[in-house]
Amino acid sequence: MIDSHCHLELMKNADDVIARCKDAGMKAVVSPSTHPKDFQRGLELSRKHKGFMFMGAGVHPEYVKDLAQSDIDKAFAWIREHEKDIVGVGEQGLDYFWIKEPYWQEKQKELFAKSIEFAKELDKVLIVHTRDAHADAMQILEKHNAERVQLHMWGENRFASAIKDRGWLVSVGPVSARSKSHKRVIRDIPMENLMLETDSPWFGGKDESGRLLGEPTNIKIPAAEIAEIKGMDITEVGRACAKNAAKLFRLPVRI
Ligand SMILES: [Zn+2]
Repeated sequence: MIDSHCHLELMKNADDVIARCKDAGMKAVVSPSTHPKDFQRGLELSRKHKGFMFMGAGVHPEYVKDLAQSDIDKAFAWIREHEKDIVGVGEQGLDYFWIKEPYWQEKQKELFAKSIEFAKELDKVLIVHTRDAHADAMQILEKHNAERVQLHMWGENRFASAIKDRGWLVSVGPVSARSKSHKRVIRDIPMENLMLETDSPWFGGKDESGRLLGEPTNIKIPAAEIAEIKGMDITEVGRACAKNAAKLFRLPVRI
């Protein structure tokens, strides 16, 4: 299996986690650093675990308020400079759950539009984060003709046919075990357009000290959901989704 979206750069024990992923038979993980402060750590890890961990980099929409425009420009300059080391730009997108003020939502839209053009220019996957903003996100993606797109933990089935027609991919996370809207997405999106993800260290609980415990090995959870809803074998789901991820991100791994 391939975890098409996690955050190893946020894990202190990333080396041990990667060892466990390999023990579990996983083929690769894609790990986008979503804040410029994490880019260097992401880069070091992806170099150390070359061929297994593939790095993405971007500016998460949640950070539009915290980062000055000059910081954002610097982040994009860094990405351009490390173009060869990254497989995707993101997480980019819209988050109206954390950002409610119209002014900052407009800023998110501007940044999102720019990042679509940027990802196209670099010919990288656009890694999209959307929360409570699916219709606006869809409109911007279509307007800017986004090309290689990962809709990370996309929880809205209304746009299933547009997603299919455009050849975009939805990555399904552990939240699908309890969310009806995510189950509907699995039902309505064909296998060719699905990938697996964990978004770890999120979605795996916490220990007493508050440390997040999620790991890419939790990939079994969304795989089981897809298997159940599509009436497939879990190994088959893992392989099909891994193939889709390897193709989208152009990963040099054999499935
Ligand atoms: Zn994420």
